Amino acid sequence: MTNETDFALEGHCTCGAVRYRMTRRPLFVHCCHCRWCQRETGASFALNAMSEADRVVVLAGMPEVVHTPSLSGKGQKITRCPVCRVALWSNYSGAGDAVRFVRVGTLDEPDRLPPDIHIFTASKQPWVVLPPGTPAVPEYYDRNDYWPAESLARRRTLLGER
Ligand SMILES: [Zn+2]
Ligand SMILES: [Zn+2]
Repeated sequence: MTNETDFALEGHCTCGAVRYRMTRRPLFVHCCHCRWCQRETGASFALNAMSEADRVVVLAGMPEVVHTPSLSGKGQKITRCPVCRVALWSNYSGAGDAVRFVRVGTLDEPDRLPPDIHIFTASKQPWVVLPPGTPAVPEYYDRNDYWPAESLARRRTLLGER
């Protein structure tokens, strides 16, 4: 765990027109094996670090938001570089604009944020072998069962819940 006060990770799109900095340790990191993430990445899973929107600071460029269908049927907003179109983060209907799901692979040091949980493993590609010791669920989960208390508190603060 990185000390809260000196946490900073920077990332960028492929062409470099958009740069950003995460200024707080993420709430939780999802490795999602759903078919939708597989299609959007063209790969086997997506790795998303959930962060308060105001803790993902744009340093350069003017990212654009593309409305995209999602598994829930409620849609997602994908923030992309306007030049190379690489996706940097998504916002989903659950927490809305308050929480950004940052695509870990766009960070300069993606190795710093391994998954806290594997989700939708029911549709995991069979050659992907999950590591022991990291929670894995067939579909989704109740955050109260898996998130650290500190992250739950941060989320409540963020959404104005008690
Ligand atoms: Zn770009
Ligand atoms: Zn997914």
